[in-house]
Amino acid sequence: MFRSVATRLSACRGLASNAARKSLTIGLIPGDGIGKEVIPAGKQVLENLNSKHGLSFNFIDLYAGFQTFQETGKALPDETVKVLKEQCQGALFGAVQSPTTKVEGYSSPIVALRREMGLFANVRPVKSVEGGKGKPIDMVIVRENTEDLYIKIEKTYIDKATGTRVADATKRISEIATRRIATIALDIALKRLQTRGEATLTVTHKSNVLSQSDGLFREICKEVYESNKDKYGQIKYNEQIVDSMVYRLFREPQCFDVIVAPNLYGDILSDGAAALVGSLGVVPSANVGPEIVIGEPCHGSAPDIAGKGIANPIATIRSTALMLEFLGHNDAAQDIYRAVDANLREGAIKTPDLGGKASTQQVVDDVLSRL
Ligand code: ATP
Repeated sequence: MFRSVATRLSACRGLASNAARKSLTIGLIPGDGIGKEVIPAGKQVLENLNSKHGLSFNFIDLYAGFQTFQETGKALPDETVKVLKEQCQGALFGAVQSPTTKVEGYSSPIVALRREMGLFANVRPVKSVEGGKGKPIDMVIVRENTEDLYIKIEKTYIDKATGTRVADATKRISEIATRRIATIALDIALKRLQTRGEATLTVTHKSNVLSQSDGLFREICKEVYESNKDKYGQIKYNEQIVDSMVYRLFREPQCFDVIVAPNLYGDILSDGAAALVGSLGVVPSANVGPEIVIGEPCHGSAPDIAGKGIANPIATIRSTALMLEFLGHNDAAQDIYRAVDANLREGAIKTPDLGGKASTQQVVDDVLSRL
């Protein structure tokens, strides 16, 4: 689906060697909680593909997360970043546990990783099971990955008038990052136009309140579309305020195709959209940058089920396919999608989040048997 994106990115930014590359070094970063249970699933799928499609994989175990922070004092060790930068074309990232209250010295390693590695786009396809009940849902949420409130510029101070605490956070939207995310979203829409005959881009914002920041996001997205009409002109272009977007997303999710959003809205919309297709456990994502693609399931560390061997591995397996797709290995990715879709369609071997009784490994084995 995303071959053109991979090729385009590669042409302009250095993924070129990766796109053509058949021997891939993949970093494995399980992180915390169920990350440790689902990342091995992605590895097993890649091992199964070894020598198919002429591909071969070499794996490097890497560390990040809250447990790593507790053990080493660093949530994202320098060594992990160094190895990813110098040796890996792709990586799989599991999940990190996020303490809800501030822990001195700790901040999310995936947010830092996205920034360090220039992973400017988080691409999240949300798709219902073929042949399931209701109208099919098949959308891609393209979330800007590097700025917005996630730049983490926050301060707490005492308000002089009331003597009580106030906390401020900076929301950053830049022209460059918005142009980049609008372009990749339009490229994804273009590819969908080619395979399905129609495509719509919906730009999500709240510019009625945040007229400068979200106003800029909206303005630049439109400009990228308008100034490339020769290329994107057949894609329908929509804008939607984020609150009414949430309403519509739940009322008529089948109306959405490609959605582009600033970081925070994209994060919230994609977790919400996951509920429409059964479970967070089936929704994948890929963090895409000029040098590396990192597959990452949309779910978190799920402490409530961690260690029980029942985490759904499908989000990770689909993230593995998505990573391959953005690295230019579309055929291998399609094999994985087909195997997963067959497992879901048949519905006999599924984890408890989808109403089944199977273990993580039983689902992996079933998918492997279909590859
Ligand atoms: P974190 O603090 O890491 O974000 P969380 O529990 O707040 O963890 P998620 O990990 O995303 O957030 O989990 C939300 C809910 O979805 C939990 O009930 C969890 O058990 C369930 N869930 C998430 N991922 C999976 C999965 N792969 N398989 C089964 N259930 C899952």
